[in-house]
Amino acid sequence: MSPNDFDAKELIKIISKLVKIDKEWVPYSSTGSLYLRPTLIGTDPTLGVNDPHYAKLFVITGPAGTYFPTGWKPVTLLADSEYIRAFPGGVGAFKMGCNYAPSILIAKIAASLGCQQVLWLYDSDEKLTEVGTMNIFMYWKNEQGEEELITPPLSDGLILPGITRKSLIEIAKSWNKFKVTERYPTMEEIKRAIEEKRVIEMFGAGTACVVCPVAKILYKNQKTQLHEELLIPTLESKHKIMQGLYDTINDIQYGKIEWPGWTRIVA
Ligand SMILES: *Cc1c(COP(=O)(O)O)cnc(C)c1O
Repeated sequence: MSPNDFDAKELIKIISKLVKIDKEWVPYSSTGSLYLRPTLIGTDPTLGVNDPHYAKLFVITGPAGTYFPTGWKPVTLLADSEYIRAFPGGVGAFKMGCNYAPSILIAKIAASLGCQQVLWLYDSDEKLTEVGTMNIFMYWKNEQGEEELITPPLSDGLILPGITRKSLIEIAKSWNKFKVTERYPTMEEIKRAIEEKRVIEMFGAGTACVVCPVAKILYKNQKTQLHEELLIPTLESKHKIMQGLYDTINDIQYGKIEWPGWTRIVA
C-alpha cells in the first residue's frame, strides 16, 4: 500500500473482522479485555532516511487487564528529571517507535530501584507529563481549597493524546462534582500538596489497563542528588475517583451503560 491510501473506515471494517476471528482471545472475565494495536511500518527496500513509498498496516490483538481478583496492584514511580521522554518540537504526541526505544534503558534503571514505571518530568520546574506509556491524572485539593482532577494539557506536543485520557475527562466532566483542569502540575507543587495531605489520588490512564493506581514516587532531588520517597494514598481514598472512572469505562465496554458513539458491536 501507499501511505496515502489510508482509509479509516476500511480499517475499522478489517478490525471488526479480526475481532470476530480472535474472539476466543477476549478474556472470560469482567475486568479483562482484548487490546487492539494497529501498527504501520515503512517497508521500502532501502536504508535511506526518506518518507516511505511502501508501508505495511497490521493490527495486533492481545488479552489485557491489570485489575486482579485480589484488587488493584499499585505502582511505584521513578521521577528523575535527568531523563526526558519528549520535548517541544519533537514527536512526543505520536505513538512512534522512536519515542519508546530510548525509554527501555530508563525503565531498567527504574526497575533496579524497585520502581515499576517512570514518571516523566520535563523542564527545570519538573512538570509531570506522563507515567510510563500512560497519561497521568491526579485528584487533589488545590491551593485554593477546591477538589480538582488535573491532567497535563495537549497544547505543546509533549503529551500523547490518549483516548483513555479523553474519555476520563469527558466522564469526569459529566459528573459535574468537581473541577476538571488540563494543566501541568510540578514536582514542587506535588511535594507541598503531599506534605499538606492534599493529594488524594494519582493514577495512570491508558487503553490496556484503563487506570493504574500510583502508591509511591521515588523522587530524585537534583540539588542533593538524593532519592526521596513520596507516598500517595490513592488506594486509601474515600472519594474513589479512579475506581468510579474505571467502573464507568468498564460498564460502557460491557454494555451495562450507554454512552452514545463510544461502542460498536462486532460479534
Ligand atoms: C499509548 C500511550 C498513552 C495512552 O493512550 P491510549 O490511547 O489511552 O491507550 C499515553 N501515553 C503514552 C506515552 C502512550 O504511549
